[in-house]
Amino acid sequence: MKLAPHLHRLGNDIVASYLVDLPEGITLIDAGLPGHWHDLRRELAELGRPMSDIRGLVLTHGDSDHIGFAERLRREAGVPVFIHADDAHRVRTGEKPKTPMGPARLGPTLGFFAYGIRKNALRTAHVSEVIEVADGAVLDLPGAPVVIGMPGHSPGSIAVHVPAVDAAFVGDALTTRHVLTGRTGAQPAPFTDEPAEAIDSLDRLAAVSASWVLPGHGAPWRGSPSDIAAAVRASA
Ligand SMILES: [Zn+2]
Repeated sequence: MKLAPHLHRLGNDIVASYLVDLPEGITLIDAGLPGHWHDLRRELAELGRPMSDIRGLVLTHGDSDHIGFAERLRREAGVPVFIHADDAHRVRTGEKPKTPMGPARLGPTLGFFAYGIRKNALRTAHVSEVIEVADGAVLDLPGAPVVIGMPGHSPGSIAVHVPAVDAAFVGDALTTRHVLTGRTGAQPAPFTDEPAEAIDSLDRLAAVSASWVLPGHGAPWRGSPSDIAAAVRASA
């Protein structure tokens, strides 16, 4: 789905990832669920771009619902996968601390897990080779993505600022739709390792200048990072 020139979303408000298409090539941010592979192929076909135009995949963190087709893309298309060093172990092994589930409603929770099953979440492959990146890095990929460390949801959670499309991709540093309660609007994301640290990290996001804030779950936010950071704090 096209959000703006050069800016596309794969998936939906339940699980989303993003594609930035520029003349010099394509950068992906997150890899959703394994079944989103087909959504990726469809989007590329609509753009008239081959898979070989993808220069890199940047993961906002290592959780399974963000790495779906990453290993397939790496293996079949040779696309390098970038992740913050502090989540490299998680993406290679799937190991993560157990977090309390928090509030949930039956309908939205079932909807989340049913969508996962439809999109093959149970067959998510770990990513066997990654390129580890650090806070502040500017990646040599189309759009020159900037890595912004936002520890909290996981130790290596990042926001990815792509000035070329005026967007900040935030993974689960926050959400605009709680996958377990169905509540919409800017708010903290569930399954967060360190909730207080995640709130502190919003200061990092608030310092970014962009017109879009794009989460891994929920509707795109058309507005500034500082406004959404304030809205998340207000609802925490
Ligand atoms: Zn997630």
